[in-house]
Amino acid sequence: MGNTIQVKDKTFAVSIPQEKILSEVKRVAAEINRDYAGKEPVFLAVLNGSFVFAADLLREVDIPCEISFVRLASYQGVSTTGEIREIMGLSVDVTNRPVIIVEDIVDTGLTMAHMLETLKKHNPSSVDICTLLLKPGKLQINLDIRYCCLQIPNDFIVGYGLDYDGYGRNTKDIYTLVQ
Ligand code: 5GP
Repeated sequence: MGNTIQVKDKTFAVSIPQEKILSEVKRVAAEINRDYAGKEPVFLAVLNGSFVFAADLLREVDIPCEISFVRLASYQGVSTTGEIREIMGLSVDVTNRPVIIVEDIVDTGLTMAHMLETLKKHNPSSVDICTLLLKPGKLQINLDIRYCCLQIPNDFIVGYGLDYDGYGRNTKDIYTLVQ
């Protein structure tokens, strides 16, 4: 089938086409442009998965801002390990500045909760979460997500920056695992 791909040992089918992703990214960027006008936010993109989303989002943001990158990981293969490791720390001073976290996907929400806790120690003036994808059915904690492009079912997805075992990040569309 033309709309399936093979990533290592697994088959994935297109679930969100590029046009849909980009229109939602533009919608969220417009919300940020409106809400953060005059505030000069610092975007903190969570590597690796958010690199494509961050690149598209930031090019739609037209207010003065900075972007920096942090690295966290909680996934190995297709299931969560429950362990969250901070691999790379903050390289920008966020003291008294509004921060927008840019994440690829919120699943259980544990990664974001950890990130919020870590960030608080650096005394930002405010923190908002901006995620490309949210699996509401998997959320384990009460998380205030101000900006969300798309809500998806509980299935495992790849593409547009998201990987399966390191592969599959380099697609324009988003794909869902075929069981
Ligand atoms: P959480 O801590 O919210 O459970 O997990 C967030 C992280 O898990 C994301 O940043 C992402 O790296 C990974 N993740 C969660 N669901 C998926 C998925 O469906 N596909 C991929 N590739 N990664 C996922």
